[in-house]
Amino acid sequence: MDVKHVVIIGSGPAAWTAALYAARAELKPIIFTGVNRGGQRGGQLTTTFEVENFPGFPLGVTGPELIRLMEEQARRFDVVVFEEDVIEIDSTNSPFIVKGSSNSILAMSIILATGAYAKKMDVPGNKEFWNRGISACAVCDGALPFFRNQPLAVIGGGDSACEEAHFLTKYASQVYLIVRKDKFRASKIMQERVKSHPKIKVIFNHTLEEAMGATALEAIEIEDVNTGVKQTLSVRGLFYAIGHQPNTEIVQGIINLDKVGYAKVKTGTTHTSFPGIFAAGDVSDKRYRQAITAAGMGCMAALDAEKWITENSEKWLTQQNQK
Ligand code: NDP
Repeated sequence: MDVKHVVIIGSGPAAWTAALYAARAELKPIIFTGVNRGGQRGGQLTTTFEVENFPGFPLGVTGPELIRLMEEQARRFDVVVFEEDVIEIDSTNSPFIVKGSSNSILAMSIILATGAYAKKMDVPGNKEFWNRGISACAVCDGALPFFRNQPLAVIGGGDSACEEAHFLTKYASQVYLIVRKDKFRASKIMQERVKSHPKIKVIFNHTLEEAMGATALEAIEIEDVNTGVKQTLSVRGLFYAIGHQPNTEIVQGIINLDKVGYAKVKTGTTHTSFPGIFAAGDVSDKRYRQAITAAGMGCMAALDAEKWITENSEKWLTQQNQK
């Protein structure tokens, strides 16, 4: 079997940008788009209704259309696309063996761009009003006309929840920040920022019980964890900020992960702890999580992989010949 230069795993902005750069560097990348694992093909952007903050689209673009365009651009060059999941990586072998559900590839390097998924809450009404008032990304969706001058709610007590609640004050008439404990998990500075904001009302010790409405979200029911007393809040938007989960099961035990499961990379690069494996986008980024930053990291990963292949190919070929 031929040894390929690079296999890219994923189909979001990081993966397609890595494919574009790797293909233009004549690395003839193979991309496994993934179909079932940890979300859907195209990643989180495909669940975003409208993207207004990706440069180059002055009138905005839908998430699925942006991904379709990225894929179309990468496919103009020499990219082989397998529409399947990677089920195993054999890193004990050099080159790596990347096993897909139908195809297996020998590759010198791997770019992991499998993304992450925002955790959601499986309460009654969640599925019904998903994208009809319920979202897991205030920065992506908060500025939509639907939410303007309306009461909104954010669930969570971490830095993301505080940041999202604060961000939403630009558009909302009022933001309820619903925290399940009697205290925040967020840093002091973020706590102060939300506590002192006149448009934010923090409700501690409450959990979300239900999302309600006719065709779109109109209200939520929350419950006091101490007394069991329920109350209904009229809101047109509900934003989950209860953490993300990166899709790193296939590299567990191969590369170093942090305690949540994010791929650790050498600061300022996409190098993971395993030589020849690079990570880009939300799989290694818990801080920025934007389509544009993921695309930027995809570019970095392709450049890092290209340099690594150039630096190591001679050594690697000698090793292969000695086998
Ligand atoms: P965190 O895991 O820090 O916080 C998640 C929050 O959601 C916690 O308050 C948790 O409650 C709550 N939660 C979890 N599950 C539920 C549930 N089912 N119902 C209600 N509440 C729930 O995630 P973040 O995304 O906020 O942050 C992730 C990392 O990224 C952190 O290290 C954070 O510091 C960092 N970050 C930094 C930013 C910055 O510096 N500007 C911005 C955003 C994130 P509980 O506390 O009770 O467990």
